[in-house]
Amino acid sequence: MEKAVRRIGLLGGMSWESTQLYYKLINQGVNRQLGGLHSAEIILYSVDFARIEKLQRASQWEEAGQMLAQAAQALESAGADCVLICTNTMHKVAEQVATSVDIPLLHIADAVAEILLREDVQKVGLLGTAFTMEQDFYRKYIQEKYGITLIVPTAPDREIVHSVIYEELCKGKIKASSREEYLRIIHFLSAQGVEAVILGCTEIGMLVSQEDIAIPLMDTTQIHANKAVEFALGDI
Ligand code: GLU
Repeated sequence: MEKAVRRIGLLGGMSWESTQLYYKLINQGVNRQLGGLHSAEIILYSVDFARIEKLQRASQWEEAGQMLAQAAQALESAGADCVLICTNTMHKVAEQVATSVDIPLLHIADAVAEILLREDVQKVGLLGTAFTMEQDFYRKYIQEKYGITLIVPTAPDREIVHSVIYEELCKGKIKASSREEYLRIIHFLSAQGVEAVILGCTEIGMLVSQEDIAIPLMDTTQIHANKAVEFALGDI
């Protein structure tokens, strides 16, 4: 008998550049395990990122959370068995989204922290948007729940990391000069004694990859997509 595959609900578009990676990685992951022509069952709700980004900049998180909660409800009504918010930053409103539906929300920071624990990483660097690097919803969440220490770049370097995300990566622009900057910043974190670096923004994997640098990189897009595959196949 064919194994029943659970339906993945993707709350994407933040940005669509990384959502397409989720789509590809989840399909590849399911196919790797089931073979043949098997692929994942996915329902995608892709938002207009300009509207979300405007709310982020204005610190209107409650409104942004409402938008995402409504989208999650639409995914649930359409038959999704779980929901993934396909961005680290918008996990700022994860609680609001999770409580608006009855299906489970697969939290990106839990997925990453599980890998860090498995690899016995106790001190890790974090790259992401300024919101992710500077606010409590991500750093403190992992620190308090899992006892892992997170180190972020200096203020000027955080600005560089942040602006490359919004000005380039979310627009599909990949620049060699920005890759060099990111690698320089990762080297700086490495010199602070971190054992790995979290690519805590779902577009960063488009710019830097493990081949570029020796220190282990934890790509949140890949890790979150793997979590969706495990869920789809009923392993969690
Ligand atoms: N995709 C990004 C992240 O993982 C940034 C875009 C956003 O602000 O949602 O944080």
